[in-house]
Amino acid sequence: MEKNIRKVAIVTGGASGIGKAVSLKLFEEGHQVIICDKNIKAARLLEKRDIQEGNEIVSQYLDVSNSKSVKSVFKDIFKKYGGIDILVNSAGITTPPTPLFKKSDKDFKKVVDVHLMGTFYCMREASSYMLRKRFGRIINISSRAGIFGLYGKCNYSAAKAGIIGLSHTAAKELFHHGITVNVIAPGGIRTPLSSPILNKKIGRRSRLDLVVGEPIDVAHLVSFLAKEESYLINGIVIILDGGGYLWHGMDEKFSNIIKSI
Ligand code: NAD
Repeated sequence: MEKNIRKVAIVTGGASGIGKAVSLKLFEEGHQVIICDKNIKAARLLEKRDIQEGNEIVSQYLDVSNSKSVKSVFKDIFKKYGGIDILVNSAGITTPPTPLFKKSDKDFKKVVDVHLMGTFYCMREASSYMLRKRFGRIINISSRAGIFGLYGKCNYSAAKAGIIGLSHTAAKELFHHGITVNVIAPGGIRTPLSSPILNKKIGRRSRLDLVVGEPIDVAHLVSFLAKEESYLINGIVIILDGGGYLWHGMDEKFSNIIKSI
């Protein structure tokens, strides 16, 4: 495949937050972007066309937790654009925090259906088309919670951990077909989804475990992983949190001592 030619990119959850920033970034880079989102009203607002380059952002209603819909939407996209080169799985929801012993079947299943099942359905369909061109870049947005857990969110943590296992296996199976599969595990990123828990203004100077990023920070990394030149990066989980995952119990005490020296 030629280098740096326009790619067909599907971004699930592209109507808001991280997916929105990713869609805009890939569009700026000249790619054809198809936002697949349940919130079609918000997705439509992002539609645009670069008249000179001829690439667009278009929107498509999709509930990623519906296997049949994913199959038919991806088939239509393949037919219309002649390929699916990049898939970014960013669709996501959350439920109110409750401890494990109070978590309902409904809340657990709802989150697993969107995050884990949705990512699986989209990866399965997209990879079947990527195989035909022997090229593909799959980037899954997991979470730091999928590695370290998150109080009150055992459903979310389990689904995000599942995405990591799914991605590792897919990375092994698909690499020799020119397809890479990588995972981004962000910490706090300021979006509508996280606003209930990240309502305070916390910048890069705050305690490491409290650092909050912006959606564009994730979009830059997606753009890097989506490049043809990144072909050797495969099966990686990148924690994107300013090193916050390194923070532990004693750090608060010692960081204050170091700052006072
Ligand atoms: P967001 O709420 O801003 O965007 C999520 C998008 O997903 C929305 O447009 C929503 O309509 C769409 N969506 C929800 N359910 C869907 C479904 N069934 N089918 C299709 N689309 C659906 O959230 P965000 O913060 O941008 O989150 C994006 C991803 O990043 C999620 O997977 C989230 O778990 C993950 N993440 C977010 C943070 C954070 O701090 N914001 C941290 C780690 C991981």
